[in-house]
Amino acid sequence: MNFEEYRDIWVFIEEKEGKIAPVSLELLGAGRALADKRRVGLAGVLIGENVTELASKVFEYGADKLYVYDQSIFKHYRTETYMKALLHCSEKYKPEVILYGATAMGKDLASAVATDLPTGLTADTTILDIEEDTGLLLASRPAFGGNIMATILCKKYRPQMATVRPKVMKALEPDPSRSGELINETISLREEDIRTKVLEIVKATTKKASIDEADIIVAGGKGMGSEQGFDLIRRLADVLGAAVGASRDVVEAGWIDHHHQVGQTGVTVTPKIYFAIGISGAIQHIVGMQNSGLIIAINKDPDAPIFQSSHYGIVGDAHEIVPLLIEQFQNR
Ligand code: FAD
Repeated sequence: MNFEEYRDIWVFIEEKEGKIAPVSLELLGAGRALADKRRVGLAGVLIGENVTELASKVFEYGADKLYVYDQSIFKHYRTETYMKALLHCSEKYKPEVILYGATAMGKDLASAVATDLPTGLTADTTILDIEEDTGLLLASRPAFGGNIMATILCKKYRPQMATVRPKVMKALEPDPSRSGELINETISLREEDIRTKVLEIVKATTKKASIDEADIIVAGGKGMGSEQGFDLIRRLADVLGAAVGASRDVVEAGWIDHHHQVGQTGVTVTPKIYFAIGISGAIQHIVGMQNSGLIIAINKDPDAPIFQSSHYGIVGDAHEIVPLLIEQFQNR
């Protein structure tokens, strides 16, 4: 491969129901830093139907260019169609790096593109850097159960690709005066050649907020004592319209599913309010929630490390305090 032909940092702009996924804006922030360090351009790739109007937002958040595939065949996300568009764009313009959000769509698409190009893909990256002179992407992520941070390089292929966890990178402040170059692209795809058909979209009926999007998270730890004790966490979350979070020990005890685990080997969250109840505050938990707007800890041990990372703390037995909170919030 002639690496000289490959330049620019790209971000796959994930769009759903006319909105850009927050992680794509975060990646434009991270991509801007990489592009400036390498002294190259930052471009977005946007695929969908009636999506061109989102271009100004992509520029406001830092992109210099936007490649758009705005065709009815892209109305719903399908691996095959989106992959073909991205392959077309990548083969035509040859980016040095492509970043994707580590969402269901981003992970699915990136792995398909990596296989077809072919190139390497680092999944679930949490730290990104680039070598100024060589353009080698340094994509770091927790490995071996979170015991080490591994920096993964793709030395022999281009483009270099990574999926990046939501809420880890910071979006830039949008600048409405920024604009960029819009490049409209099309590919000829016939519906009858596509193997997947979207027959119906069925929305999840549950009203419960998911942990990575919730404004309020009520998280419980081993201090809740038992699966029944942990129900208090669910009840407080219900009253507040909050999502339920948990420490790893609770997940390992089987009281709740791994999707709810906050921390180094779970999800990184930044809600407006985070309740940490019966959670000791191990560093592996703290790294996943320390950027929350307001952290309220309840723990019976006044020396529990969680109080060092909290804005408010209540020292006492969660089994006495949480029912009182539920009652008070219900009354309001
Ligand atoms: P404990 O540490 O047992 O703490 C229980 C707390 O509850 C104590 O502070 C106690 O004082 C308090 N308590 C007890 N009874 C009551 C009561 N009645 N009322 C009020 N308070 C009470 N952990 C994570 O959470 N997320 C991760 O992603 C994660 N990744 C890890 C990765 C690695 C590689 C390793 C080694 C560990 C990881 N851990 C992770 C585990 C982490 O180190 C801790 O073991 C775990 O967070 C502790 O969970 P806990 O706070 O629920 O339990």
